[in-house]
Amino acid sequence: MNVRVPEIGLPGPWLARLPYVTLALFLAVVVALVWLTRSHDEDEQRAILINDVLWMEQNLQFHLDRNVSLLEQVGTELLSADGPSAQTDAALRQMLRTESGLAQVVWLDARGNRRGAMPPLSDAQFIDEMGGAVPAESVFRLARATGRRVYGPTYEVAGGGHQFEVHVPVYSRDAFLGVVVGVYSLQDLVVRELPWWFSERYRVAVRNAEGHEIAAKSKVAPLSNDRLYTMPFDPPGHGLTLEITAYRGETRWIPMLLMASIILLSSAIVWSTWQLRRQLARRQAAEQALRSESVFRKAMEDSLLTGLRARDLEGRITYVNPAFCRMVGYSAEELIGRTPPMPYWDPEHIERIQEVHDQIMAGGTPHEGVEVRLRRKNGERLDALIFEAPLIDASGRHTGWMGSVLDITEQKRARELARQQDERLQATSRLITMGEMASTLAHELNQPLAAIASYNTGCLNRLEAETIDRPELKEIHAKLGRQARRAGEIIRRVHGFVRRSEPKREELDVNTIIRDAVGLIEPDARKRRMRIETDLAAHLPDIPADPVMIEQVIVNLVRNGMDAMREQPAERRKVRISTREEGGHVIVRIADFGCGIAPETARRLFEPFFTTKSEGMGMGLNICRSIAELHRGRLGFEANPEGGTIFILSLPVELS
Ligand code: ADP
Repeated sequence: MNVRVPEIGLPGPWLARLPYVTLALFLAVVVALVWLTRSHDEDEQRAILINDVLWMEQNLQFHLDRNVSLLEQVGTELLSADGPSAQTDAALRQMLRTESGLAQVVWLDARGNRRGAMPPLSDAQFIDEMGGAVPAESVFRLARATGRRVYGPTYEVAGGGHQFEVHVPVYSRDAFLGVVVGVYSLQDLVVRELPWWFSERYRVAVRNAEGHEIAAKSKVAPLSNDRLYTMPFDPPGHGLTLEITAYRGETRWIPMLLMASIILLSSAIVWSTWQLRRQLARRQAAEQALRSESVFRKAMEDSLLTGLRARDLEGRITYVNPAFCRMVGYSAEELIGRTPPMPYWDPEHIERIQEVHDQIMAGGTPHEGVEVRLRRKNGERLDALIFEAPLIDASGRHTGWMGSVLDITEQKRARELARQQDERLQATSRLITMGEMASTLAHELNQPLAAIASYNTGCLNRLEAETIDRPELKEIHAKLGRQARRAGEIIRRVHGFVRRSEPKREELDVNTIIRDAVGLIEPDARKRRMRIETDLAAHLPDIPADPVMIEQVIVNLVRNGMDAMREQPAERRKVRISTREEGGHVIVRIADFGCGIAPETARRLFEPFFTTKSEGMGMGLNICRSIAELHRGRLGFEANPEGGTIFILSLPVELS
């Protein structure tokens, strides 16, 4: 079948790489976008950090300022001669209790002597606390001199930790009353003063001028220092710095998820593109294989000498191969789609072809095919042998008929020629046989003719002498007639044997044929002092056969038998012909009592031109076997148990 697979070109190298290039670009853009988003995020977080730090600074500033103004407020009363009222005392306690970072409030008179403290301290404690207070004194002096609050440097206290002081001068109507000192615990200030949310995000540490960390909120160190902010801690100043480090920034899940899903999806795209390419490659390989297969099949079809022709169930031609077109002389275009009657049907045999066509449509052709006579486009006759088989599609449905058509014109012509030659050979053989028997037959014919002549002479003499009466005359004429019929019978047999006619099949009685044959050979047998015995079955069925051919077989076999008995004594010189019906066959047995057949002769007996006789031609048995086979029968032989040979001719009663 002509399966045409369209040629699909392979994509060019750049086209094949296009999806990957696009994908790589897409990925690059996505990565750049994510990177930009991240850096934007970091900028934003840094801005937030700065904002928060500024806020913290202001907050601390505000807090310290507020404490200073509170200390100013209570200072006048603390340093008055009457001492602090209960209200001031409560206010002080409140100040110390609230998370102000203030560890203590001490108030000093104008000469710098301690007037009181909250919480109160023992002297030793006070001196110890203020032990390193040389700076404290200078701070006091500076506050007194400037009339403004002054923050002192930090110092380490005995229990650990660092403190610093703020000296707030107190005046009453321009009279310097003394100084109220607010002692701050640096640690408390940092820990308490910053709100929870700030310490959750940042670690805050205070470093002194030497860079040592002297207070910190949270002992947990941040994972990295990449978001660190340092600023001077002023007030209190004196080289203190605040160091704010952001803990790890909050994880931005959405961009990460986005990135992850983009990577995942991109991988999926790469994978599926790769799979698609593999699939495509496999498909292309399959298509290539199909194409080669199709080309191979096409080449096969084109080189085929058998005509192929497909028809659908309505008899419409759906396919013809080049051999069929060559055979009938019509092109595929002229034939495909045609319905019966076809242009190549021979008009003279149209009925027979229509019959064959109907038979095919009803169930195909027999195994041996059907012979039909077709006509080429140029008018030439064509003998074709057609084999038709059902066309079954992939789903097992019967869709039509596929026919193989063989041009057997030449074979048929050769067959016919061979048949004619056979026939001529047979006729020649009969003539030869007849020639061999001619003298005996002439002698045989001579007898009745001589008898006729003698009866005639006798009759004429008696008529002249007038000594003849009517009954006698009648008797002589009867004898004359008998002899004439005898002569006529001999001539009829000879004529019947040698006549040439088209081979024919007629229902004939084998016994009658045997009798005729015996009549023909008998004179010869007599001459050779041999006997022909017959044992013919009474009710033999007629068989379809050519009488001349069957007679030829019988004559040949009987004469061969007689030839084999030349050397035999007189009592054995006989040929016995018997017939009987057996298993749908008529069996003719021709037995002689001659020399028999030697094994080496037996092997070559039926070969043409094989003879052991000096005058023989060696064609007799070969012709006999051909005739038997032409009648779908058999010719064989076996040894005669009584000596000699039995030839057995078996012919079917019905031709199948
Ligand atoms: P031909 O009679 O001309 O020789 P045939 O083909 O009739 O040719 O016979 C071939 C040979 O077969 C004979 O030459 C003979 O040797 C052998 N033959 C045939 N019939 C007999 C027979 N009845 N008995 C013995 N030999 C036979």
